[in-house]
Amino acid sequence: MADTELMVWIDQDLCTGDGICSEIAPDVFQERDDGVWVVKEITSHWGADLVFDGEQAPDGSRGVARVPMGILDEVVEAAEECPGECIMIEPFDQETFDKRT
Ligand code: SF4
Repeated sequence: MADTELMVWIDQDLCTGDGICSEIAPDVFQERDDGVWVVKEITSHWGADLVFDGEQAPDGSRGVARVPMGILDEVVEAAEECPGECIMIEPFDQETFDKRT
């Protein structure tokens, strides 16, 4: 069971690297070594840490993290404030979820 309604990913080609997203929703967004931001799932919400950084798990459009129900508003706000307009929020889709790894 996914226990979420939304999924989120970042188009790294458009990310400006300012970090506004992780200031607003640090449980979902984090900086990668090359200065762009990626999405993640963390233990306190999902029981395990998974970073969609292209190494641990796919990045870009295949690196789709579940959005915890308790912070939906924060993630939507991050997408609205993102200067690169590169935070993509989608309805949860089981087929996409199954293809992540
Ligand atoms: S707010 Fe957008 S542009 Fe800024 S670091 Fe996050 S994803 Fe990148």
